[in-house]
Amino acid sequence: MNDIQKSKTKFRQSRPWKDFKKEKYIESGKTDFITGHKLRKMWQLHHRNLDEKKYQNLRGDWFLCCNNLTHKVIHWLWTYYKKDPQIIDRLKSEMEKMAEINGILPISEK
Ligand SMILES: [Zn+2]
Repeated sequence: MNDIQKSKTKFRQSRPWKDFKKEKYIESGKTDFITGHKLRKMWQLHHRNLDEKKYQNLRGDWFLCCNNLTHKVIHWLWTYYKKDPQIIDRLKSEMEKMAEINGILPISEK
């Protein structure tokens, strides 16, 4: 583990982080913002600001509560999105094609 990782780990064990995380949990309605599902035991508090120097800045709008898999998807998608934002449009179009082929209408279109 390098120094940055060590310092992040140490911070995540601190009282301010634990209190902040709990606060965001309550604020989120105990819900994963992306899926709308209940937060599970191993849920994550995603840092929207990726600047490691700002890791300990607990600015409310820089965080998002999400489940572990959602968190992985966000970071996976981000690696592509930052170079090519149209990935979202292609993803949506793929979901719509699948819905059409499988005869599933999203709630908003029912
Ligand atoms: Zn994250």
